[in-house]
Amino acid sequence: MVAVEKSKAELIKLESNGLRGSLQEELNDPEVKKFTNANEQLLKFHGMYQQKDRDRRKPEERHLGPKPFSVMIRGRIPGGRMSARQWLAWDNMASAYATSGLRITTRQSLQLHGVLKGDIKGILKSLHEVLSHTTGACGDVVRNVTQAVNPWGDDRLQQLDEPTELLSKHFEVKTPAYLEIFLDGEPVVSDPEDRIYGQAYLPRKFKIGITAEGNNSIDILTHDLGLVATFDSNRKLDGYFVVVGGGMGQSHSDPNTRARLADNLGWIAKRHLLPVAEAVVTTQRDFGNRQDRAFARLKYLIDREGLDWFKNEVEKRAQVTFENRPLPAWQTPSSLGWFERTDGTLALGFHILSGRIVDSERRPMRTTLRQIIEKYELDIQLTAEQDLILLGIKPEDRKAIEGFLDSHGMSPASPQKVFERALTCVALPTCSKALAESERIGHELFSTIHDALQKYGLNDRAPIARITGCPNGCARPYTAEIALVGQMPGKYALFLGGDPEGTRLAEKVADKVAQKDFPEVFDKIFSFWREHSHGQERLGDFVQRSGVEAIGAIL
Ligand code: SF4
Repeated sequence: MVAVEKSKAELIKLESNGLRGSLQEELNDPEVKKFTNANEQLLKFHGMYQQKDRDRRKPEERHLGPKPFSVMIRGRIPGGRMSARQWLAWDNMASAYATSGLRITTRQSLQLHGVLKGDIKGILKSLHEVLSHTTGACGDVVRNVTQAVNPWGDDRLQQLDEPTELLSKHFEVKTPAYLEIFLDGEPVVSDPEDRIYGQAYLPRKFKIGITAEGNNSIDILTHDLGLVATFDSNRKLDGYFVVVGGGMGQSHSDPNTRARLADNLGWIAKRHLLPVAEAVVTTQRDFGNRQDRAFARLKYLIDREGLDWFKNEVEKRAQVTFENRPLPAWQTPSSLGWFERTDGTLALGFHILSGRIVDSERRPMRTTLRQIIEKYELDIQLTAEQDLILLGIKPEDRKAIEGFLDSHGMSPASPQKVFERALTCVALPTCSKALAESERIGHELFSTIHDALQKYGLNDRAPIARITGCPNGCARPYTAEIALVGQMPGKYALFLGGDPEGTRLAEKVADKVAQKDFPEVFDKIFSFWREHSHGQERLGDFVQRSGVEAIGAIL
């Protein structure tokens, strides 16, 4: 048998002594300004990325000295559901220690950016006091479990809370390293056995999402494992469709990498949830690629071995037989604006571009939201579209909240229709993988798209538009109708053709489109769409019908 060489990342995990490495020593030593490589990798499993300010590469900033290192901290917030107390704790930490407020991620979590090494422990201890933590928010484990949002207080969607918590808890790492290193817990004599992850954890990150049939508010087909709840005639959750092998990341240079939508394995009864989820995760654990991280996601295992093989393996491990049932059609209901909830309270879905909650002189967003959440003791649900839903508002408080927002120059609505479902990733200046800007040009890009839509009277069909700084795809570009994916500074690959329901992948139309040419490019595309579309045909459908070659030709 040929010996297969494990990747460096695999060796770091295996030699980490339960994800400890020498993190504690480096964390507590003020002389250590940055974590060394192995510890930097282990830090991810505890929910943190070491980063540096890449703006400091600019010649005009050289006199400021070497690039400062900082840490991005990401929460594990199942389903994006938070109490007012938890929100206030995160907000306090953002105000005291982060450089750019709070950021809602595309997976219903929160991030703090620009945290200094010396402040990490204080932050994690404060979060721990409100039962919030960051374990497994990054790293080669099951990450934050996403869940369909529920501004309506819908009884069916509410039944997803329990399995979301269950899955999140079930796939937490067992090592007490987080407790020891960051919360000053007593070291244990011997670690509890980690039956699911073992010593090597998973080959790569693993994303689980859970939704109700027909509701695609979390882009379920982009998950490694998606669970789609079904309900009996009494509206009780009775089972799940199981979809597997979704994933966005690909590379510009390697045509063997690709974005992929999840496939339907079939339906299982409710009681099989954990055995099936565990079988999917452990099959990837045992057969996933541990030599080359570019091909280590579950989607490549399914591509390599085939869906039938994968299904058989999961059935064998979980002792179930999938029932063949076609997936129901999807819709993506809006969670923005005011909603009447079934319990008589109201919810307010608040649009936040790029999920960035920061105070500016003109728009003190972080403070205003904080004051509302604190005063009215509101629960929160973060959305996979980087927005925020305030829950449990008493009807009699609506006027006061509207007046308060108004007096602070804030509106919960998106500036224009194209902004409503637009996404950006962080990219520069902190993401080490960024090849081009994303968040920092998001407003300009979406305004450009809006202007072109206005010009051709297409605003009522505003496409789903997303941008990322590299092909890793953190803002799910490949399921959008328009996606710009950074290739080099100021240049982007243009993808078109996804659909608003998240069931189709966009295709590449052009390479290295210059940022300065965006107005001209969208003008040409929208003019062509306007002239040749059938009725109210959406851009993504139009591109699919016309073919990307036809669009490429007009550019
Ligand atoms: Fe960074 Fe790329 Fe993810 Fe954007 S998509 S945050 S540039 S890794």
